[in-house]
Amino acid sequence: MKRFSIGSANALKKHCFKTLFPKTRLSHTSNRFYSTSNIPPPSPPPLASSNTKMLGGFLAGALLASGVVYYQMDSELDVNKDSCTVPLDLAGTPKYCDPKSEQFHMAIVEIQKVLFDETDCWSITPSELDAHSDSYFNTHHPLPDQRPNIVVYPKTTEQVSKIMAICHENYIPVIPCSGMSSLEGHLIPTRHGVSIDFSKFMNKIIQLDKANLDVQVQAGVGWEMLNDYLGDNGLLLGVDPGPNAMIGGMVGTSCSGTKAFRYGTMKENVINLTVVLADGTVIKTRRRPKKSSAGYNLNGLFVGSEGTLGVVTEATIKCHVLPKFESIAMIPFNSIKDATECVTDIVTNGMILNAMELMDNNMMKIINESGQTERHWEEKPTLFFKIGGQDEKDVDHLASKCKEFAEKHNNLTFEFAKDDDEKLELWSARKVALWSTIDTARKNDPESRVWTTDVIVPISNFPRFMEETKKDADDSGLLATMVSHAGEGNSHFFYCYSKKDKPIVEKLVHNMIKRAIALEGSASGEHGCGVGKREYVLEELGEAPIALMRKIKFSLDPHKILNPDKVMKIDMHEPKYD
Ligand SMILES: Cc1cc2nc3c(=O)[nH]c(=O)nc-3n(C[C@H](O)[C@H](O)[C@H](O)COP(=O)(O)OP(=O)(O)OC[C@H]3O[C@@H](n4cnc5c(N)ncnc54)[C@H](O)[C@@H]3O)c2cc1C
Repeated sequence: MKRFSIGSANALKKHCFKTLFPKTRLSHTSNRFYSTSNIPPPSPPPLASSNTKMLGGFLAGALLASGVVYYQMDSELDVNKDSCTVPLDLAGTPKYCDPKSEQFHMAIVEIQKVLFDETDCWSITPSELDAHSDSYFNTHHPLPDQRPNIVVYPKTTEQVSKIMAICHENYIPVIPCSGMSSLEGHLIPTRHGVSIDFSKFMNKIIQLDKANLDVQVQAGVGWEMLNDYLGDNGLLLGVDPGPNAMIGGMVGTSCSGTKAFRYGTMKENVINLTVVLADGTVIKTRRRPKKSSAGYNLNGLFVGSEGTLGVVTEATIKCHVLPKFESIAMIPFNSIKDATECVTDIVTNGMILNAMELMDNNMMKIINESGQTERHWEEKPTLFFKIGGQDEKDVDHLASKCKEFAEKHNNLTFEFAKDDDEKLELWSARKVALWSTIDTARKNDPESRVWTTDVIVPISNFPRFMEETKKDADDSGLLATMVSHAGEGNSHFFYCYSKKDKPIVEKLVHNMIKRAIALEGSASGEHGCGVGKREYVLEELGEAPIALMRKIKFSLDPHKILNPDKVMKIDMHEPKYD
């Protein structure tokens, strides 16, 4: 924002007016904009020095005469302009274009023109609007009226850029969507607006570069399809999140999965991104070297930003060479303590496995009961290892080392797959874990919901965290199962509950996250914040880092249109959700 002398209050007023209501809308008044809360704007915060106080007082008087909106916005800009952070109480209340207004309607017509008025490029059918707001797996749900006003399906980065420019110009919220498998209420349209869905048309593999081990793809490419394609080329993708997840959303949440122990999370697997910024500017974060010290790490800025800083249209992703030999070991233990201590021992001894997964006795029992696998499993806490290498000898050597560690920690048996069928069979138990839990819960109560959790602790604290949390889960009397990306200390307890038991689950989840944070862990290992984890991330990191994130958000998205209310609060008086 420009600086103004005391005598230029009118200039300041004009400037604020222009900033807030661009040219085309100068004749409109604030009734064209709506705030989702009816709470009056916050009073201006105190100004620091006596000179600034005088200036503040003068401007306040001048601006009050011409309308509260300008005054409020001015104080917001003024207060935050010299500060490196934006605390929530100084963030102001965002204003968005009223969906019932003529202006909104005209903006949508403009967007439809960008999409060449092709009717398969947008939708306002209730089922589509519902599908772009929520999913069964979400821990938080939208209120009945929280739906996007329209879903658009662009075909090119250029179209996305034009759509963003229109939304930016008209203060219309935008929610980028890809596979819609996120879990923390990431897609709740708290402020309505436009959902941009990449899955329908922007789902192409652009180029595989085997010589450089990377692949360039559009945002709507699904990871399963991509992994199959890479597999045909002797390669693999380093991450494996939920079913149907797609590159745009995987970048959005910085996902990982069972393979991250070996190949890293999405953060480590992105080489470059094509991003459309809030105002429609298109950037490429960098070229194609595996590493670069040239400038800020823009990949790091956008990966994990949950659609709040920019819209990803393309990405170049690392590929990894498929291990020539890989097998599965399955190792049941009598207790979670033994199983987790075995994991920490293996990790701290520097053994590199391709995956280290753990399931608890309840999960093994439910997999048996669901009949989703052919085999009957021992109903004990069980470790599943993927052990790979360039020749069979490497694999056998690693497996025998794992067996030694398992014996040191009182394993019951050690089963190592002898052929491909056995490999598939042993890994099948891990693959059906969540579905089996849901099936069982729904048999008992068709209305049953599942709360999928996701916390991570440093590996040395993993055994303690798991023992205490498992005890809480068992004591709760609810159907509770657990899977864990154990090699990283990342675990998911699945709590099944009926509506009346929701407070019990909320308390269990609350205690679990508090425990993880107290053990120097994180409220989210891989699912992200959405709306559901924001208060915990605040506790985990403290006020200042979150206020810095808010500053970054407001700098990159000054009209606050990109996936509002996710990652961090941007408004003290934000709308409620379920
Ligand atoms: C059964 C099940 C199992 C799961 N297991 C795992 C697991 O093991 N590991 C794991 O990490 N996750 C897991 N998940 C969670 C989920 O699959 C991941 O978070 C995944 O990365 C989400 O991708 P998506 O394409 O579905 O994203 P979406 O749900 O579409 O979006 C996720 C976020 O990214 C943003 N976004 C979407 N597209 C774009 C874009 N083009 N540009 C910018 N932002 C965008 C959205 O606004 C949103 O905030 C699981 C989910 C389910 C349902």
